[in-house]
Amino acid sequence: MAEVVAAADAAFPAWSALPIKERVQPFYRFKQLVERHLTELAAEVTRENGKTPGEAAAGIQRGLEVVEFACALPNLMASEILEVSSGVDCFTRRLPLGVVAGITPFNFPAMVPLWMFPLAIACGNTFVLKPSEQVPFTPVRLGDLMQEAGFPPGVFNIVQGDRETVEALLDHPQVQAAAFVGSTPVARAVYLRGIQQNKRMLTLGGAKNHLVVVPDADPVVTARNVTSSATGCAGQRCMAASVLIAVGSSDPILNAIEAEMALLRPGVDLGPVISARARDRIVGYIDRAEQAGARIRLDGRRVRVPGRENGFYVGPTLLDGLERGSEWVRDEIFGPVLSVLRVETLEEAIAIENSSPYGNAASIYTTNGAVARHFEARVRAGMVGINVGVPVPREPFSFGGWNDSKFGVGDITGRDAITFWTKSRKTTLKWTARQSNWMS
Ligand code: NAD
Repeated sequence: MAEVVAAADAAFPAWSALPIKERVQPFYRFKQLVERHLTELAAEVTRENGKTPGEAAAGIQRGLEVVEFACALPNLMASEILEVSSGVDCFTRRLPLGVVAGITPFNFPAMVPLWMFPLAIACGNTFVLKPSEQVPFTPVRLGDLMQEAGFPPGVFNIVQGDRETVEALLDHPQVQAAAFVGSTPVARAVYLRGIQQNKRMLTLGGAKNHLVVVPDADPVVTARNVTSSATGCAGQRCMAASVLIAVGSSDPILNAIEAEMALLRPGVDLGPVISARARDRIVGYIDRAEQAGARIRLDGRRVRVPGRENGFYVGPTLLDGLERGSEWVRDEIFGPVLSVLRVETLEEAIAIENSSPYGNAASIYTTNGAVARHFEARVRAGMVGINVGVPVPREPFSFGGWNDSKFGVGDITGRDAITFWTKSRKTTLKWTARQSNWMS
């Protein structure tokens, strides 16, 4: 690890001295290379993470939108200047921090690293990525393509490992800042460890996203959209639907969601979860729901995929008749499990959403604009969907939740990333013109 940081440190002076227009040029080539190798990269994501080929490719393409944003930084980073008093100007310059780090989770082996390193590197930093030990290979392929794109040695680096490596990175005196994406307990611990050493930190954590369905929702649109939110990437998304709050008499819509979820074919359009441990944890939640007397409308236990009998599959699962505050409504299950809560009014639904310690995403399904607006103005989540179950903001809008879904200020992509990955210098200039023959 120390060698990797030393390489990044050695590369920093020359890299940061380049004008930003020059620093982004290799990203144009990198994007083309990733596109050329998309099928192969997606196959690697599928192999090590289990996503379906379509999901794997979509994650990489979403990551490339951040690369496009990085290429646009020269147009966005023009500084401010103001004459602050007579003959005195003040201007700001945004400067890179130095060696910075990114620590990423298993669920998006390409996309989450791509949220971080293109923006940090375009801003003039040199970068050390510590990918999840559960998906170490895809980031290495991205590293090969960064090299092929022409980035000088030491600008983008990868170090493999787990907790020990993360702590060594955070404690390294040359590492100036770190971004982290993963579960909330680790996000909190990593944030606190970093800020205690005066490092700049932004750590994104887990989630428990609420989707609210009101009786006037379009059943067809809602059923498709809720299903893909709850089961896409086998439910292993920080933006996944996890609690469905059904307001009033929403049974026809719930029936449509159940029918849509039942169409999913594990092994074809629903991949496995990451590990046997994850599968057992998810199955444990379903077992306990059954014991507690919940109505299991769809049961994803005991799924067998022909030819892949040892795969860690959990089928789409719909739990109904749950109590408020129960573990299925409270915990991040991180599998294709949707928990239904029934309430009488929209205000109750909003109060439940607001009581969650998390605050990543919240969505409402309605055909009434006034209802949507009322909801949007009151929920405590950083990303809100109106008839959109995975409301990931696309560039240039920034990605980031609230509450226990994020520690630190600002978001991880978009313009906020410029603020995070740079420091500002404010310079005041005063030139006193002396009378000289040649001036007038
Ligand atoms: P995780 O917290 O277990 O691991 C994330 C990273 O932290 C990995 O690189 C891992 O090696 C490292 N790590 C693990 N334990 C550590 C410790 N004690 N100290 C220091 N580092 C440690 O998360 P995961 O299981 O890989 O990913 C799933 C989680 O990530 C879910 O909670 C999901 O909601 C969250 N997630 C959040 C977002 C977001 O944008 N908010 C996006 C994707 C995933």
